[in-house]
Amino acid sequence: MPSYPKFIADSMLGHVVRWLRLLGYDAVYYHVVEDWRLIRIAKDEDRVLLTRDLGLYRRARKQGVKALFIEDPDIAKVLAMLSIRFGISLDFNKNDTRCIECNTLLKYTTSLVDVAHKVSKEIALKYREFWVCPSCGKVYWQGTHWRTISEILEKAKAEKLKILSKIKPKEKKIELLSVGDVQPR
Ligand SMILES: [Zn+2]
Repeated sequence: MPSYPKFIADSMLGHVVRWLRLLGYDAVYYHVVEDWRLIRIAKDEDRVLLTRDLGLYRRARKQGVKALFIEDPDIAKVLAMLSIRFGISLDFNKNDTRCIECNTLLKYTTSLVDVAHKVSKEIALKYREFWVCPSCGKVYWQGTHWRTISEILEKAKAEKLKILSKIKPKEKKIELLSVGDVQPR
């Protein structure tokens, strides 16, 4: 159940938020929001703050907020870093995915009754699996774009291995300890 960790992103990182939702993580962002408010929400709701703003990152860390400064917004690299630092899964889970528009957990269904009048006849006949958002009503299926999604997830996994192989053993240990649960012996 990957509802945890939860995330909040600055307005530059809408694409990351959409990917996190696809992977089942509770992630929010706002088009216009002041820095102090982002930090406040991250604190109050125990969310990891993702930002491209080094100043904001530093202010958040100073206040004890979990945060990640994103230097390169390339999505495969960002997902790889999130997997290393916060343990997010890089596999799509059909029973645990969120609406990329509104962040609500989706209902997986293979029943056409659930999607009747919500998708075209061609789509209903062509696909067997659907995801319905109980909140905004949006219906998802693994259409032509799905191949790109799978490719990016594979790229993220490769990127993760690449980053891990570059970390020296000592740094790797520190990195793992800083993630949280692991305690030194
Ligand atoms: Zn929705």
